[in-house]
Amino acid sequence: MRRKLIAANWKMNTPPNAVEMIERIAEEVVTRQDRGVIICPPVTMIARLAGFGLRVGAQDCHANFSGAHTGDISAEMLAAVGASHVIVGHSERRTAYGETDADVKAKATAAHRADLTAIICVGETSAVRIGGNAEKIVRTQVRNALPQTSNAANTVIAYEPVWAIGTGAAATVEDIEAMHRAVRDEIAMRLGEKAAAEIRILYGGSVNAGNANAIFSLQDVDGGLIGGASLKIDEFLRIIAA
Ligand code: PEP
Repeated sequence: MRRKLIAANWKMNTPPNAVEMIERIAEEVVTRQDRGVIICPPVTMIARLAGFGLRVGAQDCHANFSGAHTGDISAEMLAAVGASHVIVGHSERRTAYGETDADVKAKATAAHRADLTAIICVGETSAVRIGGNAEKIVRTQVRNALPQTSNAANTVIAYEPVWAIGTGAAATVEDIEAMHRAVRDEIAMRLGEKAAAEIRILYGGSVNAGNANAIFSLQDVDGGLIGGASLKIDEFLRIIAA
């Protein structure tokens, strides 16, 4: 039985009321003994937010343990300041820094090495979808970015169609359902049926309080990776409730 998971991606934003937000989320989540919420703030806030009893994640890590990588942070360093998760392969990083599936796999492997759970992002661009190749490309991303060390405890997949991120236009439930089924099938081919049945697959891309229920009730959707709506406390609490 897969438990639902909601991960907030704050990106490079510091909500002015961040501490109040975290206190309210922690009150909601920790008092219900519900560990299915993760906040991924800018890395400078991880240590502070980890003190509230919530699980906190980073938005990226370097693949190496240490070395001459100016400006980078290793998975072990994130774990040392209280992170339990790290997002890898977000489309904004794939686009801005040319991260490939091989890079994403190396980062996910580093996360496993540091006992972090990797949230591995995959998703097609609008050009790929219009060209009819969405499933083929997403399957390739899963195949090439998923380390062999992956299991339900150390890995979550986030399907995030690039054209749905930050646009207000989420994918249709039919498209989400079909893609999540394909991703699970691809995991099964790589890691076997048991891992495929257990690994959680999140949907991300313009999830809000209005569409969360419909999306989260789909069979192969195990929760969401939430960007913009995670910065609005009342809306995010409604998404958690969904
Ligand atoms: C994201 O960036 O991971 C994301 C899902 O953003 P949004 O919810 O704003 O579309």
